[in-house]
Amino acid sequence: MNNYKRKLTEKTINFYPPDKECYACYDTGIVNNSDRLVNRLFWNDYDIDDKGRNFAGSDAAIICHCKRAYQQLDEDQNVINSGYRDSLGNIKSVVTSSGEHTLGVSLSKDQTRMLHHKRKECWQQSVKLMNDYRLQNINNSKKELPYFIQTVKETLKNTPSLFSFPTEKATVESMKLNQSEPPHT
Ligand SMILES: [Zn+2]
Repeated sequence: MNNYKRKLTEKTINFYPPDKECYACYDTGIVNNSDRLVNRLFWNDYDIDDKGRNFAGSDAAIICHCKRAYQQLDEDQNVINSGYRDSLGNIKSVVTSSGEHTLGVSLSKDQTRMLHHKRKECWQQSVKLMNDYRLQNINNSKKELPYFIQTVKETLKNTPSLFSFPTEKATVESMKLNQSEPPHT
């Protein structure tokens, strides 16, 4: 049997949340905002550009307060991650060609903790919801899906093809077409 095939005994119907210690940064040291919780709770214009569009990375990174934001060593005391804060908790800075920059900004410890607790709670709710659905679906020939998965599925159905990029030839041709078009008067 191929080594990527799971044994039947390894499979369960349980839904598992991400196995992380810190849900503020998902153990990366940089506070995550993919669910826009930072906007909803604290900074409503965070990572939103001048035109009001969501643009992840347009603002400074938010450095977490958990141990993942600090230097990490392995058993032999080798540095495996240099971290974003020094031993006093100050955010480190780097010198680049355009001068000295700090690696990011901070929410307060209480705010960061709030992100962690709220997300942890949401994951627990998702676990319960998903497990209820899975249990319920075991004997159903027509599988029911939670509304948020159903919505995404429907949206994707109406998307022509996520991976159909124009070929180089088509791009060049459409550029030529645009150039040869007389200006509208
Ligand atoms: Zn963290």
